[in-house]
Amino acid sequence: MSVQSTLNSVIGPDTPARVDGGGEYLSRNPANLEDVVARVSLGGPEVLPAATEQAQRAQREWAQVPAPVRGRVIAGLGRLVEANKESLARLVTREIGKPYAEALGEVQEIVDTCDFFLGEGRRLYGQTVPSEMPDKQLFTFRVPVGVAVVITAGNFPVAVPSWYLVPALLCGNAVVWKPAEYAAGAARALAELAWRAGVPKGVLNLVYADGEATFQGLETALAAGTVNKVGFTGSSAVGSQVGALCGKHLQSPCLELGGKNPMIVAPDAELDLAVEGALFSGWGTAGQRCTSLGNLIVHRDVHDEFVRRLDAALRSATIGDPTGDVLYGPLLDQKFADNFERILGEIGDHHTVLGSESVGRITESAPRKGFHGDPASGLYYHPVLLDGLRPDDHIFRNETFGPIVGVSTYETLDEAIELGNAPGYGLSAAIYTTDPATAFRFRQGIGAGMVSVNNSTSGAEAHLPFGGNGKSGNGSRQSGVWVLDQFTRWQSLNWDFSGKLQKAQMDVDT
Ligand code: NAP
Repeated sequence: MSVQSTLNSVIGPDTPARVDGGGEYLSRNPANLEDVVARVSLGGPEVLPAATEQAQRAQREWAQVPAPVRGRVIAGLGRLVEANKESLARLVTREIGKPYAEALGEVQEIVDTCDFFLGEGRRLYGQTVPSEMPDKQLFTFRVPVGVAVVITAGNFPVAVPSWYLVPALLCGNAVVWKPAEYAAGAARALAELAWRAGVPKGVLNLVYADGEATFQGLETALAAGTVNKVGFTGSSAVGSQVGALCGKHLQSPCLELGGKNPMIVAPDAELDLAVEGALFSGWGTAGQRCTSLGNLIVHRDVHDEFVRRLDAALRSATIGDPTGDVLYGPLLDQKFADNFERILGEIGDHHTVLGSESVGRITESAPRKGFHGDPASGLYYHPVLLDGLRPDDHIFRNETFGPIVGVSTYETLDEAIELGNAPGYGLSAAIYTTDPATAFRFRQGIGAGMVSVNNSTSGAEAHLPFGGNGKSGNGSRQSGVWVLDQFTRWQSLNWDFSGKLQKAQMDVDT
């Protein structure tokens, strides 16, 4: 059977992916709630610790496989993902409602990640270091951490997990992966591809459990010493709980959390370019990226014209069925629709609502002009552009994770930077300007881990560090060589061939 047809047997359009275990969870297509994409059995708090024990046993053997050979397994995974690019992207679109073009980009990100790390299998360099004494040589080695527990959100159901799985496995670790339930089918498909590429089953373990069972299970496993690294991608609130738990067990996790990403529009900006960037990063994927645009901070002199153009662009954008050519489709899952309804409740009298004829769910009685498909079948919401946002507004200070963006104004660059930093997140930030000095001053002042000039807040490349500061993370970085420090630890070796005991500091001629 070909790889394509075997994968289709797992994720085929009419067959829900099945996973064994405890209570049942149905992962539904948010564009068509009647469509059950995956039927998942959830495990209790005992499942994650059991998986870490299995992983611990398997890891010892996996670490003995030479790194270049592990690199070949990663190469195989990249080729398998490439061969199944369209079917995996279709599954992502079907399960979380991400527009198909973006889903294809998401799958390509896995291929790029594999392409980068397959070569790292032949590097994983250590160093030779001069000693302060004669006839003595110092070395450093990268050693795998052991067992990594990876817990992920579902808005990037395959690309973001691959940022953990690929380097962790390449470095000789075993992984226990707990994906978000609403992306259960996509997670299963990626794990299946990894197993078929040659990653042993005990080396990559997929577990399904709800948040509470995951937390309890993680606590048990950390106390038992069967976890050596935790990677968590999700909300800042849960990230802080996971971080506290890890700290209690003397572990420093990799925390990749939410964002409230600002975009500054300077008076000398090319306004049409800025409108295009704002549209894509503010409302693309219905604003449900960690790097989605949160606050637009627009210079007073260009505010009216910029807002006029953005409002027009938003009103003419196509929303609807994510298999078509749309700006965005449905919200990911019911829990995000509920959250967005709460956010809409924060709109106040001092705000001007733009971008749409209505606010809230797109329905027959509150239609959206040019809607693609049937709005009644899924979790579709009108886009909101909120003018007159103030720094003490809830919507200004908190991640909204939905199709809403607020606009504030500024006069000096220092003021723009202060507004950009005010919510306390620090994931991504953008500035549109034609003045290099403005761009460099902005980079120096803004607290984000990732800065864009004349580009939107969204977009990552597999070989550039990805991660945030403040409420967006604890300073860990994914992608490129930087993530190797998350999944390896440095071991030093000193080797004395003088034939006598040489004492550091004491026997050194100065
Ligand atoms: P979430 O509620 O924090 O959930 C993330 C993952 O953690 C899910 O697998 C979830 O399982 C699990 N979880 C929930 N409560 C837990 C607990 N107490 N202990 C351990 N695990 C727990 O996040 P979300 O709302 O699904 O995802 C959206 C958030 O992720 C946004 O804030 C977004 O910005 C962020 N995100 C960040 C990045 C980044 O790279 N910085 C990338 C993507 C998304 P359940 O599904 O069972 O709840």
